[in-house]
Amino acid sequence: MRLILLGPPGAGKGTQAQFLMDKYNIVQLSTGDILRQAIANKTPTGLAAKEIMARGDLVSDEIVNAIISERLDEKDCENGFILDGFPRTIAQAEALGQMLAEKDMPLDAVVELKVEADILVKRILNRAKESGQARADDNEDVIRNRLNVYNEITQPLVEHYSALGLLKTVDGMGEIEQVKSEIKLALEG
Ligand code: AMP
Repeated sequence: MRLILLGPPGAGKGTQAQFLMDKYNIVQLSTGDILRQAIANKTPTGLAAKEIMARGDLVSDEIVNAIISERLDEKDCENGFILDGFPRTIAQAEALGQMLAEKDMPLDAVVELKVEADILVKRILNRAKESGQARADDNEDVIRNRLNVYNEITQPLVEHYSALGLLKTVDGMGEIEQVKSEIKLALEG
């Protein structure tokens, strides 16, 4: 199973990715996690990404495309994967399409988690409080910027994948278990 999880920050992509990993025995590829790890390791990529991420802006397509292309070649992706937080721009989606065609790894579906914008800021701030590990980009101004970036730059991917016949839209407003079963239904009918 090869999936993309699409949705604004705070929509629950990470939580639902966890369930999909277990269900289909596939790996989660989160560009956000990979970049945070690169920052922690002070790699050149991490150094290039740090300030951009702290503002809630997007890291360059070139950097994230390279990260994903390399990651897809690792053995644990053979059984399938969930892309979480990638692609985020039309250019990334096009690069991904090309990569997956070259690697002979066609996508099965793109699951869009639809959540009302108003509750996202609250959700993200709660997540930070409950985990006790606020991320560098978990303050209200930066969250609002991340949401604007999503609406302006990432939202057009919905249309892109709908035109490719891959889009499954799921209501992400409910409880975790309810969203889970809706995703299951969307993927298995
Ligand atoms: P996330 O953990 O998915 O919320 O990502 C955190 C931050 O990492 C984003 O606000 C961006 O600065 C950066 N990032 C993650 N994935 C991408 C991507 N596909 N393209 C550009 N920047 C990204």
